[in-house]
Amino acid sequence: RVQLCWLRNDLRSHDNKALSRAREQGPVVAVWLVSEQTWREHLDAPMKIDFWLRNLASLQQRLQQRGIPLRILHCPRWQDAADCLLQLAGELQAAGLHFNAEYGIHEQQRDDACLIAFRQAGLQADSYHDQLLFPPGSLLTRSGSMFKVYSQFRKLAIATLHQRLPRCLAEPEPQPPLAISSDAIPQLPGLADASALQRQLWPAGEAAAQQRLQQFCEDSLHAYSEQRDRPDLDGTSRLSPYLASGVISVRQCLHAAMRCNQGELDSGNRGVQTWVNELLWREFYKHILVAYPHVSRHRAFRPETEAVAWRNDPKALEAWQQGRTGYPIIDAAMRQLLATGWMHNRLRMLSAMFLTKNLLIDWREGERWFMQHLIDGDLAANNGGWQWSASTGTDAAPYFRIFNPVTQAQKFDPNGDFIRHWLPELASRPTSLIHQPLPAADLFGASDYPPPLVELSASRQRALDAFKNLGETR
Ligand code: FAD
Repeated sequence: RVQLCWLRNDLRSHDNKALSRAREQGPVVAVWLVSEQTWREHLDAPMKIDFWLRNLASLQQRLQQRGIPLRILHCPRWQDAADCLLQLAGELQAAGLHFNAEYGIHEQQRDDACLIAFRQAGLQADSYHDQLLFPPGSLLTRSGSMFKVYSQFRKLAIATLHQRLPRCLAEPEPQPPLAISSDAIPQLPGLADASALQRQLWPAGEAAAQQRLQQFCEDSLHAYSEQRDRPDLDGTSRLSPYLASGVISVRQCLHAAMRCNQGELDSGNRGVQTWVNELLWREFYKHILVAYPHVSRHRAFRPETEAVAWRNDPKALEAWQQGRTGYPIIDAAMRQLLATGWMHNRLRMLSAMFLTKNLLIDWREGERWFMQHLIDGDLAANNGGWQWSASTGTDAAPYFRIFNPVTQAQKFDPNGDFIRHWLPELASRPTSLIHQPLPAADLFGASDYPPPLVELSASRQRALDAFKNLGETR
C-alpha cells in the first residue's frame, strides 16, 4: 500500500525527512494542498505563492524521475485539510501519512487535526522535525524554560552541534511506477503573481538553490562578517526564499559552510562563524514562536509594550510603504522590496525602526506590509525582526537605541550606489549629499523626490517619550 507524503514548506527531494521516511515504508505518493483562503488570511505574498508553484513544478519533475506521482488537492481552508487528505487516502488505499512539522499556531492546529483523524481511521500518521537543526523545546535553560537571550541560546546550540551534528539524508530511492498520475500545477491568477524580472531573480528548483549556496561559499562567505551589512555589495547569500520554502535545508547550508572552514563551526574563518550565527537566529525565532505562542497571534513579546501610544497616520504609513519618506536609504530599501520581493537585512532593520520609532506607527502595520510583499516571508523571522526593531520583542534593540537613517546610510552605502540604483531621481546628486534628505532650497526644484516626512531629532524624542512614559506607568 502507498504512503502519502504531504509536502508544504519543504519543496525538495534531497534531505527531506518525511519523504525519506515515507519511502522507507513503501511506495510514495506526494501531495500538495492549494489553500487559497488560508493563504489570503495569512497575507502570503503573491510572489511567494508564485515561487511555491514554480518550485513545485520543478520538484514534480524530479519526483517523476523517481516514480513518485504528485497529487494536488484544492482545500481552500486548513480546517478542512484532514478531510481532504483522508479522502485521498481512501481513494488510493494509502497506509499512512507523513509530513514535516511546521511551527505556527495554525500550522500546528492543522497538523494535530490530521494526525488525530488518520489515527482514528486506523491509518498511520507521522510528523517529523526537519525544518530546524533542533526541535523546538529541545534547547532549554537549566530551569527548563526557553532562552529569552539569543547569545545564551546560541552557546547551547553550538555546544549541542559539537556533540551531535545532524546529517543530511540522501534523496529517496526510485520506486517502480504506480498506476497513479500526477496532477497539473495549477494557475492561480490573482493569488500567485510575479514579474519576469522577479522570476529571473529567484529561479526555482533545488539545483538553483544549491548553485546559489555554492556560489556564495566560493565568492562571499569568507568576507561575510565584513560585507554582510553593505546593501551596495552582494555580500549575503540571498538564500532566504529557498530556506523559507524548504527548497534547501538548513543542514545543507550548515554542512556547506563547515566544509569551507575545515569542518569547524565556531572557530577558524570569521565569515563562516558569523553566517552560522545567522542560521541560528532563524532557529531562535522559531523556538520563540513555539515557546511563547502569543507572538504567533501578533501580540508583543513584552506585554507592557502593548501600551505604547502608536500614532494612526495613514498618509505617513503609505509614504513609508511606497518609498516616499524623503529619507533616501529608507525609500531605496522600500523600493527594493516592492521591485524584488526581498530586502537586505540591514535595511529591514533600518526601515522597521524608521516606521516604529521616527513615525511611531505600530510594528504590526510594518509586519503586515512585509509579509504581503516578501518572497521569503516567514512568520517567525518576520515577527522576530519587527519586534526586535520596535523594542517590543525578546532580546530586542533597547528603545533608546534608534538608528539614524542618514549616518547609517553613510556607513553602509558609502558611495551611495544602492540609493542611486533604486532612486534614479537622485542619481545626479553628489556623494556628499546623496544620503541626506533634500535641502529646503531643492524642494522647489525640478526633483520629483519628496521632502522629509519627519524631522529626525524631534521624531526621535517623540519615540523616547512614548517608551519612557510607558516605563513610568508600569
Ligand atoms: P544571510 O545573511 O545569507 O543569512 C542566511 C540565512 O540565515 C537567511 O537566509 C535566513 O534564513 C537566516 N537569517 C539571517 N538573518 C536572520 C534573522 N535576523 N532572523 C532570522 N533568520 C535569519 N527573514 C526571513 O527569512 N523571512 C522574513 O520574513 C524576515 N523578515 C524580517 C523582518 C525584519 C524587520 C527584519 C529586521 C529581519 C527579517 N528577516 C526575515 C531576517 C533577515 O533580514 C533575512 O533572513 C535576510 O535578510 C535574508 O537574506 P540572506 O538570505 O541573504 O541572509
